[in-house]
Amino acid sequence: MKKILVTGANGFIAKHIILNLLENNYKVRGTLRNLSLSEIVKSDIKKYFDSSFDIEFFKASLDSDKGWNEAINGCDVILHTASPFPQKKPKNESDLINPAREGTLRVLNAAQQNSVERVIVTSSNAAVYDGNKHITEFDEKSWTNINAKGVSAYTKSKTIAEQAAWDFVSKNPSIKLSTINPVLVWGPGIGNHSNSTSLIICRMLMNREMPIIPRMKVPLVDVRDVAKAHISSIENNNSIGKRFLLCENTYWMKDISLKMKKMGYNSPTIVAPDFLIKFLSNFDSTLKEASSKLGYDYSIKSNQAKNILGFDPIKIEKTIEDTYIYLKSIKSIE
Ligand code: NAP
Repeated sequence: MKKILVTGANGFIAKHIILNLLENNYKVRGTLRNLSLSEIVKSDIKKYFDSSFDIEFFKASLDSDKGWNEAINGCDVILHTASPFPQKKPKNESDLINPAREGTLRVLNAAQQNSVERVIVTSSNAAVYDGNKHITEFDEKSWTNINAKGVSAYTKSKTIAEQAAWDFVSKNPSIKLSTINPVLVWGPGIGNHSNSTSLIICRMLMNREMPIIPRMKVPLVDVRDVAKAHISSIENNNSIGKRFLLCENTYWMKDISLKMKKMGYNSPTIVAPDFLIKFLSNFDSTLKEASSKLGYDYSIKSNQAKNILGFDPIKIEKTIEDTYIYLKSIKSIE
Protein backbone atom coordinates (compact mmCIF):
# COMPACT_ATOMS: atom_id res chain seq x y z
CA MET A 1 0.00 0.00 0.00
CA LYS A 2 1.54 3.31 -1.09
CA LYS A 3 2.17 5.99 1.51
CA ILE A 4 1.26 9.48 0.31
CA LEU A 5 2.37 12.74 1.88
CA VAL A 6 -0.05 15.66 1.58
CA THR A 7 1.52 19.02 2.44
CA GLY A 8 -0.73 21.64 4.06
CA ALA A 9 -3.08 18.90 5.31
CA ASN A 10 -5.58 21.32 6.88
CA GLY A 11 -6.32 23.13 3.59
CA PHE A 12 -9.67 23.30 1.79
CA ILE A 13 -8.43 21.17 -1.13
CA ALA A 14 -6.01 19.03 0.93
CA LYS A 15 -8.75 17.61 3.18
CA HIS A 16 -10.70 16.42 0.12
CA ILE A 17 -7.51 14.84 -1.21
CA ILE A 18 -6.91 13.07 2.12
CA LEU A 19 -10.50 11.76 2.19
CA ASN A 20 -10.13 10.50 -1.37
CA LEU A 21 -6.78 8.83 -0.57
CA LEU A 22 -8.27 7.03 2.44
CA GLU A 23 -11.26 5.92 0.35
CA ASN A 24 -8.78 4.45 -2.12
CA ASN A 25 -6.86 2.58 0.61
CA TYR A 26 -3.70 4.67 0.56
CA LYS A 27 -1.69 5.29 3.73
CA VAL A 28 -1.69 9.00 4.45
CA ARG A 29 0.74 11.39 6.07
CA GLY A 30 0.18 15.13 6.30
CA THR A 31 2.28 18.18 7.07
CA LEU A 32 0.99 21.08 9.13
CA ARG A 33 2.81 24.16 10.26
CA ASN A 34 0.69 24.07 13.40
CA LEU A 35 0.49 20.51 14.73
CA SER A 36 -2.34 21.40 17.12
CA LEU A 37 -4.64 21.35 14.06
CA SER A 38 -4.09 17.61 13.57
CA GLU A 39 -7.05 16.60 15.79
CA ILE A 40 -9.35 18.97 13.86
CA VAL A 41 -8.26 17.51 10.52
CA LYS A 42 -8.86 13.98 11.82
CA SER A 43 -12.27 14.71 13.30
CA ASP A 44 -13.39 16.64 10.17
CA ILE A 45 -12.49 13.68 7.97
CA LYS A 46 -14.04 11.16 10.38
CA LYS A 47 -17.47 12.66 9.60
CA TYR A 48 -17.11 11.54 5.96
CA PHE A 49 -15.14 8.31 6.34
CA ASP A 50 -16.95 5.44 8.05
CA SER A 51 -14.08 3.04 8.82
CA SER A 52 -11.30 3.73 11.30
CA PHE A 53 -8.19 5.23 9.70
CA ASP A 54 -4.66 6.14 10.46
CA ILE A 55 -3.03 9.38 9.47
CA GLU A 56 0.35 10.64 10.65
CA PHE A 57 1.17 14.33 10.98
CA PHE A 58 4.52 16.08 10.78
CA LYS A 59 5.33 19.70 11.48
CA ALA A 60 6.89 21.54 8.53
CA SER A 61 6.73 25.08 7.24
CA LEU A 62 7.42 26.28 3.71
CA ASP A 63 9.69 28.90 5.25
CA SER A 64 12.15 26.49 6.87
CA ASP A 65 14.10 23.31 6.05
CA LYS A 66 13.17 21.89 9.46
CA GLY A 67 10.94 18.82 9.45
CA TRP A 68 10.77 18.12 5.70
CA ASN A 69 13.18 15.15 5.70
CA GLU A 70 11.31 13.47 8.55
CA ALA A 71 7.94 14.10 6.87
CA ILE A 72 9.05 12.80 3.47
CA ASN A 73 11.21 9.83 4.50
CA GLY A 74 9.35 6.56 3.87
CA CYS A 75 6.71 8.04 1.55
CA ASP A 76 6.11 6.90 -2.03
CA VAL A 77 4.44 10.02 -3.41
CA ILE A 78 4.21 13.68 -2.38
CA LEU A 79 1.14 15.77 -3.12
CA HIS A 80 2.38 19.31 -2.53
CA THR A 81 -0.70 21.45 -1.97
CA ALA A 82 0.63 23.93 0.62
CA SER A 83 1.09 27.49 -0.63
CA PRO A 84 -0.05 30.85 0.73
CA PHE A 85 -3.53 31.77 -0.56
CA PRO A 86 -4.51 34.80 1.53
CA GLN A 87 -7.68 36.87 1.18
CA LYS A 88 -5.82 40.16 1.38
CA LYS A 89 -3.05 41.55 -0.78
CA PRO A 90 0.26 41.09 1.13
CA LYS A 91 2.41 44.02 2.22
CA ASN A 92 5.25 42.77 0.04
CA GLU A 93 4.99 40.45 -2.96
CA SER A 94 7.86 38.42 -1.51
CA ASP A 95 5.61 37.43 1.44
CA LEU A 96 3.82 35.13 -1.03
CA ILE A 97 6.47 34.46 -3.65
CA ASN A 98 9.18 33.28 -1.24
CA PRO A 99 7.22 30.61 0.65
CA ALA A 100 5.60 29.38 -2.58
CA ARG A 101 8.90 29.08 -4.49
CA GLU A 102 11.29 28.17 -1.66
CA GLY A 103 8.71 25.79 -0.15
CA THR A 104 8.28 23.94 -3.44
CA LEU A 105 12.06 23.64 -3.80
CA ARG A 106 12.38 22.44 -0.19
CA VAL A 107 9.85 19.69 -0.90
CA LEU A 108 11.59 18.69 -4.15
CA ASN A 109 15.04 18.68 -2.55
CA ALA A 110 13.83 16.59 0.37
CA ALA A 111 12.08 14.25 -2.10
CA GLN A 112 15.37 13.72 -3.89
CA GLN A 113 17.37 13.23 -0.70
CA ASN A 114 14.86 10.62 0.48
CA SER A 115 14.51 8.84 -2.89
CA VAL A 116 10.85 9.79 -3.31
CA GLU A 117 10.50 9.89 -7.08
CA ARG A 118 6.90 10.96 -7.59
CA VAL A 119 5.79 14.51 -6.82
CA ILE A 120 2.52 16.18 -7.78
CA VAL A 121 2.40 19.93 -7.23
CA THR A 122 -0.90 21.76 -6.87
CA SER A 123 -0.31 24.76 -9.08
CA SER A 124 -3.09 26.94 -10.48
CA ASN A 125 -4.63 28.51 -13.55
CA ALA A 126 -2.89 31.57 -12.08
CA ALA A 127 0.30 30.10 -13.58
CA VAL A 128 -1.39 29.70 -16.98
CA TYR A 129 -3.56 32.52 -18.21
CA ASP A 130 -2.73 35.85 -16.63
CA GLY A 131 -1.04 38.82 -18.28
CA ASN A 132 -1.91 37.60 -21.80
CA LYS A 133 -5.01 39.60 -22.72
CA HIS A 134 -4.32 39.19 -26.44
CA ILE A 135 -4.95 35.43 -26.02
CA THR A 136 -8.50 34.14 -25.59
CA GLU A 137 -8.02 30.37 -25.36
CA PHE A 138 -5.68 28.74 -22.86
CA ASP A 139 -4.38 25.19 -22.45
CA GLU A 140 -1.48 23.44 -20.70
CA LYS A 141 1.06 25.02 -23.01
CA SER A 142 0.14 28.53 -21.83
CA TRP A 143 2.12 30.37 -19.19
CA THR A 144 1.27 33.53 -17.26
CA ASN A 145 3.28 36.60 -18.13
CA ILE A 146 4.26 37.83 -14.68
CA ASN A 147 5.73 41.04 -16.11
CA ALA A 148 2.37 42.28 -17.41
CA LYS A 149 0.62 45.16 -15.64
CA GLY A 150 -1.90 44.22 -12.94
CA VAL A 151 -0.59 40.68 -12.26
CA SER A 152 -1.14 39.98 -8.55
CA ALA A 153 1.41 38.74 -6.02
CA TYR A 154 -0.52 35.46 -5.68
CA THR A 155 -0.42 34.91 -9.45
CA LYS A 156 3.30 35.63 -9.48
CA SER A 157 3.84 33.25 -6.54
CA LYS A 158 2.10 30.36 -8.29
CA THR A 159 3.81 30.98 -11.64
CA ILE A 160 7.27 31.34 -10.14
CA ALA A 161 6.81 28.28 -7.89
CA GLU A 162 5.61 26.09 -10.75
CA GLN A 163 8.41 27.27 -13.04
CA ALA A 164 10.92 26.52 -10.27
CA ALA A 165 9.50 22.98 -9.98
CA TRP A 166 9.82 22.27 -13.73
CA ASP A 167 13.30 23.77 -13.73
CA PHE A 168 14.27 21.53 -10.77
CA VAL A 169 13.16 18.34 -12.50
CA SER A 170 14.86 19.31 -15.75
CA LYS A 171 18.12 19.27 -13.74
CA ASN A 172 17.11 16.30 -11.54
CA PRO A 173 15.33 13.88 -13.85
CA SER A 174 14.97 11.17 -11.19
CA ILE A 175 11.97 13.16 -9.88
CA LYS A 176 8.77 12.52 -11.82
CA LEU A 177 6.65 15.65 -11.64
CA SER A 178 3.06 16.48 -12.60
CA THR A 179 1.21 19.68 -11.84
CA ILE A 180 -2.50 20.04 -11.24
CA ASN A 181 -3.67 23.53 -12.23
CA PRO A 182 -7.22 24.12 -11.01
CA VAL A 183 -9.14 27.31 -11.78
CA LEU A 184 -11.22 28.90 -9.00
CA VAL A 185 -12.38 26.05 -6.76
CA TRP A 186 -15.88 25.97 -5.26
CA GLY A 187 -17.76 23.14 -3.56
CA PRO A 188 -18.44 21.91 -0.03
CA GLY A 189 -15.57 22.07 2.43
CA ILE A 190 -14.73 19.39 4.98
CA GLY A 191 -14.85 21.16 8.33
CA ASN A 192 -14.88 24.91 8.72
CA HIS A 193 -13.38 26.83 5.80
CA SER A 194 -15.38 30.00 6.31
CA ASN A 195 -12.22 32.03 5.74
CA SER A 196 -11.27 30.23 2.53
CA THR A 197 -10.17 32.61 -0.21
CA SER A 198 -11.64 30.12 -2.66
CA LEU A 199 -15.22 30.69 -1.58
CA ILE A 200 -15.24 34.49 -1.17
CA ILE A 201 -16.89 35.35 -4.50
CA CYS A 202 -19.44 32.57 -4.08
CA ARG A 203 -20.34 33.76 -0.59
CA MET A 204 -20.50 37.40 -1.68
CA LEU A 205 -22.91 36.57 -4.51
CA MET A 206 -25.10 34.27 -2.40
CA ASN A 207 -25.22 36.73 0.48
CA ARG A 208 -25.63 39.79 -1.77
CA GLU A 209 -22.52 41.24 -0.11
CA MET A 210 -21.73 42.27 -3.69
CA PRO A 211 -24.83 44.31 -4.65
CA ILE A 212 -23.67 44.85 -8.24
CA ILE A 213 -21.60 42.56 -10.44
CA PRO A 214 -18.39 43.42 -12.29
CA ARG A 215 -18.40 42.59 -16.02
CA MET A 216 -15.90 39.82 -15.44
CA LYS A 217 -15.43 36.15 -16.25
CA VAL A 218 -14.73 33.49 -13.62
CA PRO A 219 -13.46 29.99 -14.44
CA LEU A 220 -14.82 27.37 -12.02
CA VAL A 221 -14.20 23.79 -10.91
CA ASP A 222 -15.50 21.62 -8.05
CA VAL A 223 -13.17 20.78 -5.14
CA ARG A 224 -14.17 17.09 -5.36
CA ASP A 225 -12.94 16.97 -8.97
CA VAL A 226 -9.69 18.65 -7.96
CA ALA A 227 -9.08 15.98 -5.31
CA LYS A 228 -9.94 13.19 -7.77
CA ALA A 229 -7.47 14.53 -10.33
CA HIS A 230 -4.64 14.37 -7.77
CA ILE A 231 -5.41 10.70 -7.07
CA SER A 232 -5.77 9.87 -10.81
CA SER A 233 -2.40 11.46 -11.35
CA ILE A 234 -0.77 9.12 -8.80
CA GLU A 235 -2.34 6.13 -10.49
CA ASN A 236 -1.52 7.00 -14.10
CA ASN A 237 2.09 7.13 -15.26
CA ASN A 238 1.02 8.96 -18.42
CA SER A 239 0.55 11.99 -16.20
CA ILE A 240 4.30 12.25 -15.51
CA GLY A 241 5.88 15.39 -16.95
CA LYS A 242 2.51 17.03 -17.64
CA ARG A 243 0.40 19.94 -16.45
CA PHE A 244 -3.34 19.47 -15.98
CA LEU A 245 -5.70 22.41 -16.22
CA LEU A 246 -8.97 21.69 -14.41
CA CYS A 247 -11.90 23.85 -15.47
CA GLU A 248 -15.60 22.98 -15.68
CA ASN A 249 -16.17 26.16 -17.69
CA THR A 250 -15.64 29.91 -17.67
CA TYR A 251 -18.68 32.05 -16.83
CA TRP A 252 -19.54 35.73 -16.84
CA MET A 253 -20.14 36.53 -13.20
CA LYS A 254 -23.59 37.83 -14.13
CA ASP A 255 -24.55 34.42 -15.56
CA ILE A 256 -23.41 32.68 -12.36
CA SER A 257 -25.40 35.14 -10.29
CA LEU A 258 -28.48 34.62 -12.50
CA LYS A 259 -28.12 30.84 -12.07
CA MET A 260 -28.02 31.40 -8.30
CA LYS A 261 -31.07 33.67 -8.45
CA LYS A 262 -32.96 31.00 -10.44
CA MET A 263 -32.00 28.44 -7.79
CA GLY A 264 -33.70 30.66 -5.20
CA TYR A 265 -30.75 32.55 -3.71
CA ASN A 266 -30.82 36.28 -3.13
CA SER A 267 -28.05 37.04 -5.64
CA PRO A 268 -27.54 40.37 -7.42
CA THR A 269 -28.49 40.75 -11.09
CA ILE A 270 -27.31 44.25 -11.97
CA VAL A 271 -24.00 44.55 -13.80
CA ALA A 272 -21.82 47.44 -12.67
CA PRO A 273 -20.59 49.83 -15.35
CA ASP A 274 -16.84 49.35 -15.91
CA PHE A 275 -16.05 52.96 -14.93
CA LEU A 276 -17.59 52.38 -11.49
CA ILE A 277 -15.43 49.29 -10.79
CA LYS A 278 -12.36 51.19 -12.00
CA PHE A 279 -13.22 54.12 -9.72
CA LEU A 280 -13.88 51.85 -6.71
CA SER A 281 -10.59 50.02 -7.31
CA ASN A 282 -8.82 53.21 -6.19
CA PHE A 283 -10.14 52.51 -2.69
CA ASP A 284 -10.34 48.72 -2.65
CA SER A 285 -7.16 46.83 -3.59
CA THR A 286 -9.06 43.58 -4.25
CA LEU A 287 -10.92 45.34 -7.09
CA LYS A 288 -7.62 46.39 -8.71
CA GLU A 289 -7.07 42.94 -10.23
CA ALA A 290 -10.73 42.70 -11.24
CA SER A 291 -10.59 46.06 -12.97
CA SER A 292 -7.77 44.87 -15.23
CA LYS A 293 -9.98 41.98 -16.43
CA LEU A 294 -13.24 43.86 -17.11
CA GLY A 295 -14.85 42.60 -20.31
CA TYR A 296 -12.06 40.07 -20.97
CA ASP A 297 -13.61 37.04 -22.68
CA TYR A 298 -11.53 33.83 -22.63
CA SER A 299 -11.83 30.07 -22.32
CA ILE A 300 -9.71 27.44 -20.56
CA LYS A 301 -9.34 23.99 -22.08
CA SER A 302 -9.00 20.85 -19.92
CA ASN A 303 -8.51 18.32 -22.71
CA GLN A 304 -5.30 16.90 -21.27
CA ALA A 305 -7.00 16.26 -17.90
CA LYS A 306 -10.03 14.74 -19.64
CA ASN A 307 -7.91 12.44 -21.82
CA ILE A 308 -5.32 11.31 -19.27
CA LEU A 309 -6.91 11.72 -15.84
CA GLY A 310 -10.51 11.01 -16.84
CA PHE A 311 -11.54 14.48 -15.65
CA ASP A 312 -15.33 14.55 -16.00
CA PRO A 313 -16.35 17.70 -14.17
CA ILE A 314 -19.32 17.98 -11.86
CA LYS A 315 -21.85 20.41 -13.41
CA ILE A 316 -21.62 23.92 -12.01
CA GLU A 317 -25.28 23.91 -10.85
CA LYS A 318 -24.51 20.94 -8.54
CA THR A 319 -21.35 22.65 -7.28
CA ILE A 320 -23.28 25.85 -6.53
CA GLU A 321 -26.04 23.97 -4.73
CA ASP A 322 -23.62 21.96 -2.59
CA THR A 323 -21.54 25.05 -1.81
CA TYR A 324 -24.70 26.84 -0.68
CA ILE A 325 -25.70 23.97 1.63
CA TYR A 326 -22.14 23.90 3.00
CA LEU A 327 -21.85 27.67 3.57
CA LYS A 328 -25.22 27.64 5.34
CA SER A 329 -24.13 24.72 7.53
CA ILE A 330 -21.09 26.64 8.75
CA LYS A 331 -23.20 29.82 9.10
CA SER A 332 -21.09 31.66 6.55
CA ILE A 333 -24.25 32.84 4.76
CA GLU A 334 -27.70 33.72 6.08
P1 NAP B 1 -6.01 26.84 1.83
O1 NAP B 1 -7.22 26.22 2.38
O2 NAP B 1 -5.68 28.24 2.21
O3 NAP B 1 -4.77 25.90 2.16
C1 NAP B 1 -3.47 26.35 2.00
C2 NAP B 1 -2.56 25.46 2.79
O4 NAP B 1 -1.22 25.93 2.61
C3 NAP B 1 -2.85 25.49 4.29
O5 NAP B 1 -2.63 24.23 4.83
C4 NAP B 1 -1.81 26.46 4.80
O6 NAP B 1 -1.43 26.28 6.15
C5 NAP B 1 -0.64 26.09 3.91
N1 NAP B 1 0.38 27.14 3.94
C6 NAP B 1 0.29 28.42 3.55
N2 NAP B 1 1.45 29.07 3.79
C7 NAP B 1 2.28 28.15 4.36
C8 NAP B 1 3.61 28.18 4.84
N3 NAP B 1 4.34 29.29 4.80
N4 NAP B 1 4.15 27.04 5.34
C9 NAP B 1 3.42 25.89 5.40
N5 NAP B 1 2.14 25.80 4.96
C10 NAP B 1 1.59 26.91 4.45
O7 NAP B 1 -6.01 26.86 0.23
P2 NAP B 1 -6.65 25.85 -0.83
O8 NAP B 1 -7.75 26.57 -1.49
O9 NAP B 1 -6.88 24.53 -0.22
O10 NAP B 1 -5.43 25.78 -1.86
C11 NAP B 1 -4.53 24.68 -1.84
C12 NAP B 1 -3.61 24.80 -3.02
O11 NAP B 1 -4.35 24.89 -4.23
C13 NAP B 1 -2.72 26.04 -3.00
O12 NAP B 1 -1.48 25.68 -3.54
C14 NAP B 1 -3.45 27.00 -3.94
O13 NAP B 1 -2.57 27.93 -4.52
C15 NAP B 1 -3.96 26.01 -4.98
N6 NAP B 1 -5.12 26.49 -5.73
C16 NAP B 1 -6.27 26.81 -5.07
C17 NAP B 1 -7.37 27.25 -5.81
C18 NAP B 1 -8.66 27.59 -5.13
O14 NAP B 1 -9.52 28.25 -5.73
N7 NAP B 1 -8.86 27.13 -3.91
C19 NAP B 1 -7.28 27.38 -7.20
C20 NAP B 1 -6.09 27.05 -7.82
C21 NAP B 1 -5.01 26.60 -7.08
P3 NAP B 1 -1.99 27.28 7.29
O15 NAP B 1 -3.42 26.90 7.49
O16 NAP B 1 -1.11 27.00 8.44
O17 NAP B 1 -1.86 28.67 6.75
